[in-house]
Amino acid sequence: MLPAPLIGVFVFLFGLIIGSFLNVCILRIPSGKSIVMPSSACPKCGHLIQPYDNIPVLSYLLLGGKCRGCKTKISPMYPLVEFLTGVLFFACYCAFGISLDTLKWATFSAIMIVLVFTDLRERILPDLVNFTGFGLGLLLSLFMKPTDGTALWLSSHIFQFPPPDAVLSLVDALLGAAVGSGLLWLVSEAYFKLRGREGMGLGDVKMMLMAGAFLGAKRTLLTIMAGSILGSIIGIVLILARRKEADYELPFGTFLGAGALLVVFFGTPVVDWYQSLLMMR
Ligand SMILES: [Zn+2]
Repeated sequence: MLPAPLIGVFVFLFGLIIGSFLNVCILRIPSGKSIVMPSSACPKCGHLIQPYDNIPVLSYLLLGGKCRGCKTKISPMYPLVEFLTGVLFFACYCAFGISLDTLKWATFSAIMIVLVFTDLRERILPDLVNFTGFGLGLLLSLFMKPTDGTALWLSSHIFQFPPPDAVLSLVDALLGAAVGSGLLWLVSEAYFKLRGREGMGLGDVKMMLMAGAFLGAKRTLLTIMAGSILGSIIGIVLILARRKEADYELPFGTFLGAGALLVVFFGTPVVDWYQSLLMMR
C-alpha cells in the first residue's frame, strides 16, 4: 500500500490529465466536433500540438502561454481547467478517501467543469453532457449508500421494512433530478409569463436534472440557492461597476455549477443544521 500523501499526488496528476481532456470537450462539444479525433492544433496557424507540448499546465508555462508555431497567445483557460480538475480530484480524495464516493464526486466535478466553462464561453449547456451525466448519476447511485434520506423517509410511510439500499439510493437520485429540473422549469415558466421573454434556457433545467441525480433532493435545493446567490452578487457587482449592460446575459449554468461544487464539499453541515432546525419544531 502506498502512503496517503503519495496517492494524493497521483490523484492530482491524474486530475491534470483528465483536465486536459475536459479542455477538448469544452472546445469541441458545442460545435458538434469529435472529442477523440483529430489531435489538437493551433486554431490560428494549424500547427499540430505535439505530445511534448501537451503536458498539462507545464507546457503552457514552458511555452510562455504562446503557440510554438506562430507565437499567438494561448488562452489561460487551458491551464486553469487542468489545474482546477487536479485540485478538485485531490479534494475528492481528501474528503472521501479511496472509495466509490471519490469516483462519483470526481466524475461529477469533471462534468461540472465542462458545463461551467462551456456556459461561460458560449452560453450553452450541451445536451450531450447533461444527458450523459444524468445516466451516469443514476448508474452510480445503484452502488452508493443512500445518504440523502428523503427516499428512506418516504418509504417509512409506505412500507413496513425499508427497501434495499440500491433502490433507496436510486429513488433519492430520481427525486433529486425531479426537484432540480422541476423547480427550474417552474421558475423559467413564471419568468416567461411575467416578462414575455425567455429568461432562462432549458439548458439550466436539464443541467439540474443531471446534477439532481448526483446530489439528491436536499443538496439540489441547496445548490439552486447557492447558485442564485452567487449569480445575484456577481450580477449586481457587474451592473454597479457598469462593466456590462443591464441586459447582459449572466451564465446561470456557471453559477449553478460553482454552487453545486461548493455544496459537494461544504454542504453537509448546512444540510445537517437545517434538518436539526426542522427536528426542533
Ligand atoms: Zn499557432
